[in-house]
Amino acid sequence: MSSGVRSHKIAVIPGDGIGIEVTASTLAVLRAVQDKIGGFELSFDELDYGSARYKAQGSYTPEGWLDYLRKSDAIFFGAVGDPDVPDHISLWELILPMRQKFQQYINIRPSSILPGIPSRVVGTKPGDLDWVIIRENTEGEYAGQGGRTHVGTEWEVATELAVFTRKGVERVMRFAFETAQSRPRKLLTVVSKSNAQRYGLLLWDEVAEQVSKEYPDVKWDKMLVDAMTVRMVAKPTSLDTIVTTNLHGDILSDLAAGLSGSIGIAHSASLDPTRTSPSLFEPVHGAAFDIMGKDLANPIAAIMSAAEMLRWLGEAEAADLVEKACRQSIAEGKTTGDLGGSLKTSQVTSEVVDILEQL
Ligand code: ATP
Ligand code: MG
Repeated sequence: MSSGVRSHKIAVIPGDGIGIEVTASTLAVLRAVQDKIGGFELSFDELDYGSARYKAQGSYTPEGWLDYLRKSDAIFFGAVGDPDVPDHISLWELILPMRQKFQQYINIRPSSILPGIPSRVVGTKPGDLDWVIIRENTEGEYAGQGGRTHVGTEWEVATELAVFTRKGVERVMRFAFETAQSRPRKLLTVVSKSNAQRYGLLLWDEVAEQVSKEYPDVKWDKMLVDAMTVRMVAKPTSLDTIVTTNLHGDILSDLAAGLSGSIGIAHSASLDPTRTSPSLFEPVHGAAFDIMGKDLANPIAAIMSAAEMLRWLGEAEAADLVEKACRQSIAEGKTTGDLGGSLKTSQVTSEVVDILEQL
């Protein structure tokens, strides 16, 4: 742009349930930070992809949607899911195609105990738990390989093939070692289950060994996923950066979200580190129909996801401000019910905007 204003085109998919509510909050905060700082301009392209569309028109998305999305600089995603539609349909029609087509091979979920939130882990205080979980996002059990035979008979067999490629494992390992290297403790735990699996996770471990040689300053160890769940609860301070397979990462990151207080503050990003395709930013929680339409949802997870999106787009100052405002509102107890507060979604949103304007 000739004015020197950096412009970023954001595809916005609010989705279903509270996804719609927390997305509205997020856009309000993004507009506020843009007005405050200046120098950049966000354009929001709001799309109706979701279960309501599926129920009315038979598909989650219009034809050509992936090519359309490709033209955006980033994707902000609320949540999808509907009590009337089995979860695997939205997963395989909407979420997984984006991860695979855009090669968003990294799913990253930071987890920490923030000041103002009582820790659920015995013997820890805010700051003690500060993890980054890196989940491989395109392979493993989510590769979509397998099938069913003799359906409905007593001989029925269902197979679900976990696929690991050397290239796929290498790129996630390299990203994990680099992330660990960039953090003060330079500590990485590689999670596996290579005692029970004979191929895929042996490759996983082998590649970890090999890639580790390129990062001699990173201290790393291997953990089996079962033992890892115990360590996360019993010795949380011994962990920093964690890298896991697709399926294990799904489970461990929910555990991490639970340990750090509420799923209402857990945020995540699906990244294409090569920046060939747009990356996607979203809260970890789902559509949560039980609290939908009641102004009860905690918008912080979505807003923090958007802060990560700003950082990814090169707007670090704006990202810092948004994050700081979220942290401050939590520290001051200005929170929704899931964190023990009494504010509504809309009130937390206004608090974050007010704090941001005063920072
Ligand atoms: P989905 O099927 O899309 O995953 P879900 O109904 O399983 O949605 P989750 O998002 O997985 O819901 O969350 C589980 C529960 O946690 C919800 O039923 C809700 O009560 C609570 N919850 C989730 N997100 C939030 C939030 N942002 N604020 C407050 N409570 C939340
Ligand atoms: Mg759920």
